[in-house]
Amino acid sequence: MIKVTVWNEFVHEREMENVRAVYPDGIHNCIKDFLQSDEIEVRTATLDMPESGLTEEVIADTDVMIWWGHCAHDKVPDEIALRVKDAVLKGMGLIVLHSGHHSKPFKLLMGTSCDLQWREGDRERIWCTCPNHPIAQGIPESFELAAEEMYGEYFTIPKPDDVVFTGWFAGGEVFRSGCTFTRDLGRIFYFQPGHEEYPTFKNEYVRRIIKNAVYWAKPVTRKNKLGSPHAVDVPEARI
Ligand code: ZN
Repeated sequence: MIKVTVWNEFVHEREMENVRAVYPDGIHNCIKDFLQSDEIEVRTATLDMPESGLTEEVIADTDVMIWWGHCAHDKVPDEIALRVKDAVLKGMGLIVLHSGHHSKPFKLLMGTSCDLQWREGDRERIWCTCPNHPIAQGIPESFELAAEEMYGEYFTIPKPDDVVFTGWFAGGEVFRSGCTFTRDLGRIFYFQPGHEEYPTFKNEYVRRIIKNAVYWAKPVTRKNKLGSPHAVDVPEARI
């Protein structure tokens, strides 16, 4: 069983009628509904919960965290962001969606500004630029989103391990839409689609990509309290 925690700041859905119309139960519950299975157990956490829903106990019980945030990045306490970062370094997977590029945990893990160009609604075609990657399995050569927020280069991230998807917008821009990173024992996937005003998380390929990413990002091994990976039983082994 893979234990997933979907974190959402859950602000736009409460404050904007047009967003609530697309995600009446919040983006986190939409993601939970399509991920939940016999193999994936999903809990949700939101900013308004004590400790932003990310207590030590919740994080210790999470294999993969999914993060959606936009207008309230600064409301996430630094202590919580550091807690997420540390969990990733110890092996927890992290999937950062859309405007989460400016979230505290992602910026801490990247070490850069994670800035980009942006513009409101456009048609996007997402090209698979790493078809043998596990996250790309079952995804065609390209697929379209009729409406998505344009994110464009230059995206000020460190060089990714793989650029699994590259987005093209009808306005002409391109963007590294699906990037993987490794930090210590943790696997990170950044995925650009997912603006709150559009039904992106109802697209079958977007859902498949996020599900694939959960399987890819789940911990292979995790550090124990002493700092040694569980899977290594040689005392002098170092990571
Ligand atoms: Zn957006």
